[in-house]
Amino acid sequence: MSNQPKRKAAKLGRNDPCHCGSGKKYKDCHLPLEQVERTEQMRLHQAQDTLLPRIIEAAQALPMQFPSALERFWQGKYQVEQLDELDTLEDRGAERFLTWFAFDLRQEDGRTLVEQLVADEAFELDPYERRLLQTWTTVRLRPYLIEMIKKGKGVIARDLLSDATYELADHKASRRLESGEVLVGHLVPVETPVGAEAPNYYLAGAAAQLTDDTAATLVAFAELHLADLRRTLPDAGWADLIKERSEIFNHFVTALPTEERDPTIFDRIISDGQIALKLTAASLAELLGRKPPDEEEEADSSPSS
Ligand SMILES: [Zn+2]
Repeated sequence: MSNQPKRKAAKLGRNDPCHCGSGKKYKDCHLPLEQVERTEQMRLHQAQDTLLPRIIEAAQALPMQFPSALERFWQGKYQVEQLDELDTLEDRGAERFLTWFAFDLRQEDGRTLVEQLVADEAFELDPYERRLLQTWTTVRLRPYLIEMIKKGKGVIARDLLSDATYELADHKASRRLESGEVLVGHLVPVETPVGAEAPNYYLAGAAAQLTDDTAATLVAFAELHLADLRRTLPDAGWADLIKERSEIFNHFVTALPTEERDPTIFDRIISDGQIALKLTAASLAELLGRKPPDEEEEADSSPSS
């Protein structure tokens, strides 16, 4: 490789003039501030390792809610007795379920477990874990497309519905994933590195790793559910869909074949979804604010006569 990666700045010596241009020595200006910042980030990063297991533990303390939650997440495929073996029955199935249970499922009071834990003073957390947990209340199960791999460093992921992009500082993910793949998982903000504008993210709740042509079908599948949601919430958008039924992304994942590729499965997922939600092509177009299918066809065909 001839192109050396650009360095942010040459390493400053303690007695060099500070990079901010104040004219003071680095050690008397920004160095101590940056050291504090780095320590903070390290602590936040460590908090991430301890916080997620604690959230999962809190979820496991609510077993009476598992039957209905399992039904919703797995569509009746698994029973409570199978929770212990779910990690082997489905790729990290128990972890995926419990993460969704904690981050997405609304409890009786309308809040998610994570939202409840933030407000619960009896839930003991160190200050770093608490800070992190506050930023985790908006995390939900979402679909992402892997846009770029930075080998050994991380990946850039794009939210398939909102189009926002995120940087995952997950070197393991960078080896496991491929560009163009679709992931369904929880993207959790961790620390914001010194000099960076946005936080780093990592993937929790084990995302399913799917193949290339999945993205378009997944969006179409999400559109079916958005259309259905608009029957009761006429102004619903993607954010509402995720708030109301993020479990559909798991339904999509579990409908895909794990062994051999089956190109017909994509059409089947969409047509089955349309039937299950009782959506005709016309009602779907109307609910999504699109032209009815016939008009669209006419518009597409060239004016031959
Ligand atoms: Zn300075």
